[in-house]
Amino acid sequence: MVDNKSPYFNPERETLTREGIEALQLERLQATVKHCMNSPFYKKRFEEMGLKPEDIKSLDDVRKLPFTTKQDLRDTYPFGIASVPLRKCVRLHSSSGTTGNPTVILHTQKDLDEWANQVARNLWMVGLRPDDVFQNSSGYGMFTGGLGFQYGAEKLGMLTVPAAAGNTLRQIKFIKDFGTTALHAVPSYVTRIYEVMQQTGVDPRKDTKLRVLAIGAEPHSEEQRKRIEAMLGVKAYNSFGMSEMCGPGVGFECCEQNGLHFWEDYYIVEIVDPETLEPVPDGEIGELVLTTLQREAMPLLRYRTRDLTRVLGRTCPCGRNHIRLDRMRGRSDDMIVLRGVNIFPIQIEKILMQFPELANNYLITLTTDNDNDNMTVEVELEELFTDDYQRLLDLEKNIKRALKDEILLTPHVKLVAKGTLPVSEGKAVRVVDKRKVYQ
Ligand code: ADP
Ligand code: ZN
Repeated sequence: MVDNKSPYFNPERETLTREGIEALQLERLQATVKHCMNSPFYKKRFEEMGLKPEDIKSLDDVRKLPFTTKQDLRDTYPFGIASVPLRKCVRLHSSSGTTGNPTVILHTQKDLDEWANQVARNLWMVGLRPDDVFQNSSGYGMFTGGLGFQYGAEKLGMLTVPAAAGNTLRQIKFIKDFGTTALHAVPSYVTRIYEVMQQTGVDPRKDTKLRVLAIGAEPHSEEQRKRIEAMLGVKAYNSFGMSEMCGPGVGFECCEQNGLHFWEDYYIVEIVDPETLEPVPDGEIGELVLTTLQREAMPLLRYRTRDLTRVLGRTCPCGRNHIRLDRMRGRSDDMIVLRGVNIFPIQIEKILMQFPELANNYLITLTTDNDNDNMTVEVELEELFTDDYQRLLDLEKNIKRALKDEILLTPHVKLVAKGTLPVSEGKAVRVVDKRKVYQ
């Protein structure tokens, strides 16, 4: 049993010193690499590289290991990377696989138990205790946000409501009737829940007991988080997960809200230059590369996540010395290249959210008009003030100017009525690319 008054779910692991973390990592890395020799995929890779598990003598030797990519997962679909026989596995999750083969991740019972521990640790870290009621408004099924949070919240001991995504009126009814104090949802869906609360006269501060939100699974800006906190009167914590690493539970903000603690007893974290694949100094943006340290069914070595972030620090006032990473900019493949300029949707969101006249939903469309590539940003207005045409024009002008300062291009800006842009119940689609491709 965990001591209810302790700020830590797993005090021994969470409060390790840096030396303690690194010693544990080396031990776990060596064991992981040995275990990977049971995987036909890694065995072959190691043979090709002339590498032996005994060559890993220090933590820095992680750089001798081969990278693993999403393409490797696709090429070995469905079970080719596994390091245990299939009969030892009890679950699989799979990504959507819109391009080519989907990717499959296998889990043993031990993997599932550890995954639940990771999620429970995160939820405990932000003050949730067995008395809380946890509602999970994320998709269930293959998407790891469903079962991942379910088992983690149950492990902590909370009454856990598997509400799943969608049916917003019912979500709100559950929040009220069950006395939900904590909610997990993707940020764009939280906004939707709030809008429906407004339409149906529910005041989240008076009519609900909500106090903590876990938001994640998609990139969002600090400004978006602040809005969510202000709308619902809660604390919202950024949650990072990816199916390849288990799902939610990989990284989570503590109460300091100063970046995401990535759990280094479970992963080795590297940030590399995506071109040279060499490590970048702390503070510089690069691609996040993760090596699993506790996985049984399907350990992954130096997995290239394609997520871009940077190291913020390795200590924290909360007493945890697990590395702190900045919120994700997005994946390298989310980056828009328009007229030679690199732009992340999150940069646009950050600017839009600074205008109180604007609501939270927006859509970026890229088109080719008369052989020129253009960007149109449609954004919903908090309130319609069509009668005041001058005010609309001024607002549009100010948004364009602020966007130009941030992304160095002036997009078209279209102000639209609230509720007119599409809302998804899963991860939000923020960019539609209709540009002509010239061969
Ligand atoms: P899929 O690959 O089908 O989208 P995943 O759930 O595995 O399914 O997605 C993981 C990805 O989601 C991460 O690599 C990252 O790009 C994004 N992601 C997850 N959590 C966050 C977060 N808190 N902030 C930004 N991006 C996130
Ligand atoms: Zn902390």
